[in-house]
Amino acid sequence: MDIDPALVADVRWSFYNEAMKARPSTIDIALVAPASLKLVVYPDSILKKIAADVRQFDDWLVAVTERMKDVMVEHKGVGLAAPQVGLGLRIFVAAESAKREDAKVYINPVLTDERGSEEGEEGCLSLPTIRIKVPRFTHVRVEALDERGRPFSENLTDYTARIIQHENDHLDGILLLDRMSPVAKLANRRKVRELEERVKGPRK
Ligand SMILES: [Zn+2]
Repeated sequence: MDIDPALVADVRWSFYNEAMKARPSTIDIALVAPASLKLVVYPDSILKKIAADVRQFDDWLVAVTERMKDVMVEHKGVGLAAPQVGLGLRIFVAAESAKREDAKVYINPVLTDERGSEEGEEGCLSLPTIRIKVPRFTHVRVEALDERGRPFSENLTDYTARIIQHENDHLDGILLLDRMSPVAKLANRRKVRELEERVKGPRK
């Protein structure tokens, strides 16, 4: 199966417009204690927002990335994005091995040189019970900053490239639900409704 990069860009742009209407306040973010961060699950509205660039590199930020590694490992994930712990910032951590010592931090990442396409099964810590097949690029280049603000770049392929594309989607408010084919949407309708019904009462 092949994927048209122009089509992907179009999809991202439509989510961008929607998400810009509800951009998070950075003042609120700075008050969050890193140790209090925990996994946020669908349908929490933070998961649908565009995350903001990280502008300040300090001890708070390092503590946030350390906490994100903890949460990722605790939930047996191979990647975790900041919106998944309720922070609207462009940060994700990833480790193909799911081991804490292998977890790498990506801040303000930019993906380029996207090539090739392959369908593969994905799950998401914020969408428990749901697993779907998603087409992803088999090769991407990522340019990002580490937790101290030092730039680095990597050329990634296959599973690692898939993880990075999934996590990067989170920074643009894009979930697996948005990547579902009409058939998958239908097949997972009940599971999605169950997740939505877990939330009692309105949330911000
Ligand atoms: Zn996810």
